[in-house]
Amino acid sequence: MLDDLDKLSNIGKTPEGGVSRLAFSKPDLETRAWFKARVADAGLDFEQDGAGNLFGTLPCANPEAKTILAGSHLDSVPNGGRFDGPLGVLSTLEALRTIKEAGVSLPVHLQCVSFSDEEGTWIRLMGSRAFAGKLTEASLAAESALTAGELEDVGGGPDRFAAALDGAGISTDSLLNAQCDPKRYVGFIEVHIEQGPRLEEADLNIGVVTEILGIRWQWLRFIGEAAHAAGKPMALRKDALWGVSDFILRAKALVESEFPPGVMNCGQAQIKPETFNIVPAEVRLALEIRHRSPEQMEEMQRQLMALAKASAEEYRLKLEIEPVGYVPPAPLDEGVVDLIQQAATDLRLKHTRLTCFAGHDTQTLSALMPSAMYFVPSVDGVSHNPKEFTKPEDVVNAANVMVHTMLGWAKKLVDG
Ligand SMILES: [Zn+2]
Repeated sequence: MLDDLDKLSNIGKTPEGGVSRLAFSKPDLETRAWFKARVADAGLDFEQDGAGNLFGTLPCANPEAKTILAGSHLDSVPNGGRFDGPLGVLSTLEALRTIKEAGVSLPVHLQCVSFSDEEGTWIRLMGSRAFAGKLTEASLAAESALTAGELEDVGGGPDRFAAALDGAGISTDSLLNAQCDPKRYVGFIEVHIEQGPRLEEADLNIGVVTEILGIRWQWLRFIGEAAHAAGKPMALRKDALWGVSDFILRAKALVESEFPPGVMNCGQAQIKPETFNIVPAEVRLALEIRHRSPEQMEEMQRQLMALAKASAEEYRLKLEIEPVGYVPPAPLDEGVVDLIQQAATDLRLKHTRLTCFAGHDTQTLSALMPSAMYFVPSVDGVSHNPKEFTKPEDVVNAANVMVHTMLGWAKKLVDG
């Protein structure tokens, strides 16, 4: 498995030692082919669904049996780390290989999955949301327009998204029809690197996630009026950037004081016309908010929108809100959390329970079937960075916990 991780980190390798495997880019397509070959090498059944999600299955003797699904993603952010995603897919692949080699016969099928475009080059959590039947034509149109990635190897123009999908042998139609039958599944497990320093600081091996924060993305468009930057008296301006600046700092104060542990981020501001000597006529601001409580998430959203309206009014601007996407906060399954903790205990690993602050495919899956996830430490908590590193012993722990959780789950099914 360590060798697999090494080999995979050569695909889309960047000069800084990270990887760029944006969904449906050339390196991502190469990764897909590599994974398919590794699944075949392991003697597992390969399958790709309409969302381009890749599966390797270890079937059991009973074709009517249900399936334990586990995995993560193989795509990356631009110049991202080698472990974010692959750790989960390859630990699961290793677990299936180990169980197959040991000749253990189980009452369930085991399936390893790599979900498409988890990082949202095109559509955030695209593969898992399609798998859960949560993508609609409207959400595709709203979100694929965001296409942040500069993918030279994907054609330009309005068909970029379709061209990107086509490269992986799928289409918007197949994407919208990729919904799985949840009745076929017992549940889902994901292992991931921790994208923060908590485990390392506490000298722990495993962090079992009990809940994942919800995320809401939206564009706020503050509309003012272009004017000469010298001629127009300051008191008479409708400067969209003034309103936006006012909003951002007040929003930060609001979230910090009223909604801990909620967080917000304004990661993009598109200014028009964007030049030295013209008063900004319009700013389109990307606002992302996260919270673990569904009620607090709703209240935070309500108060932030009221604040945006107040800032806009104060600077005599118009405000338009464009919703982009919403993944509700996800409490994870207690039973699966217990199974993972039991596996960690059996392996004499030091473990704890924690809240997850980043979005993961488990979030989507948890609405569909009993799901849980666990973390292994990432050195200095670094992630989405070429310096991301997880020690070999932690990678091995990830796979061992996966094997034992799967076996524990299978035993529980037999024992009832
Ligand atoms: Zn990830």
